[in-house]
Amino acid sequence: MVIMTGREAERNGIRDSRGRRIDYLRVSLTDRCSFRCLYCMPPEGAPYIPHAEILSYEELLHLCRIAASLGISRYKITGGEPLCRKDAVAFIRKLKTLPGVNSVSLTTNGALLAPLVPELAEAGVDGITVSLDAFTQETFSRVTRSDARLDDILHAMERSRNTGIGLKINMVPLKGINDAEIVPLTRYAMSKGCHIRFIELMPVGRGKDCAGILRVEVQAMLEKTFGPLTPFRERIGNGPAEYLRADGHCGGIGFIAPLSHVFCERCNRVRLTSAGFLKTCLHHEDGCDLKVLIRSGVSDAGLSSAIRNAIQTKPRTHNFAAQAVSGEETPFLMNHLGG
Ligand code: SAM
Ligand code: SF4
Repeated sequence: MVIMTGREAERNGIRDSRGRRIDYLRVSLTDRCSFRCLYCMPPEGAPYIPHAEILSYEELLHLCRIAASLGISRYKITGGEPLCRKDAVAFIRKLKTLPGVNSVSLTTNGALLAPLVPELAEAGVDGITVSLDAFTQETFSRVTRSDARLDDILHAMERSRNTGIGLKINMVPLKGINDAEIVPLTRYAMSKGCHIRFIELMPVGRGKDCAGILRVEVQAMLEKTFGPLTPFRERIGNGPAEYLRADGHCGGIGFIAPLSHVFCERCNRVRLTSAGFLKTCLHHEDGCDLKVLIRSGVSDAGLSSAIRNAIQTKPRTHNFAAQAVSGEETPFLMNHLGG
């Protein structure tokens, strides 16, 4: 395998057949989670993938090393709940040291975060996103269907901020469930100077059982309270979020709006599931089973070309808006994919 230097890989990158540069990989460490978010997991939980089917940390690092050599330089650690997997922080520390890896961030529900914050800071994590869909205990329990305490999540966020780790909040607005908490949570994020992002509910897995709220409605709600939102000047983050700001506040208000503002032509990402499938679009089944290849002893050059080929055939766009109308099922749950 020819390993490019970090700079060469950055320059050459890897492009799909439509010329989109792919430099971001979401790596799911596990499908397990102690929450049962209304839009993500069934209340009784879903059958977990057997341990033997989950990639080991060595296998994950092996694949990430090859991905990095192809110019994929930014990594998001996800799940299920990534911090449910033992030694997740040690994995992050190792991933950070791979040549060509420029940034490693984490998305978490925050339940196990507080005691791990110092270790994560020391491992060099570049950012933490906490998924938080409520600002009262009642709504938090209703959405997560867990016995976790909202105060513990807020405490973990405060600890992360105090260590200087960049912190973002992700909220999925849900009609009739957390509408009334959109403004208070935004006010909280603003008071802490951290970015908050609103994600339109996708009809994936259990997402079709709930009603989301479109960006236009959330933005109108926020503007009623905070005044007109204007575009953020600097570019924030690696992804599809479009950031606005309220006058006098430093935190950004981001919108990830796959239904109302399709961003596929700017898509820069692929996903590696905990079972080792490289998924090239959240909505479609296209991709490549890297676990089968790595476990059958395929060489690094073979793995590298399998990743390239899969990326080449990345689908042009998702079709969530049409699916939301048709009610058609997706054959996967979000905790298997990592969001
Ligand atoms: N457990 C971690 C967490 O909650 O951040 C990581 C995995 S979770 C699947 C990643 C993200 O996907 C979360 O921000 C969650 O809100 C989002 N998500 C899950 N199902 C979704 C859906 N149907 N539509 C939109 N976002 C969804
Ligand atoms: Fe767990 Fe995250 Fe899914 Fe909620 S969204 S059930 S925290 S994986």
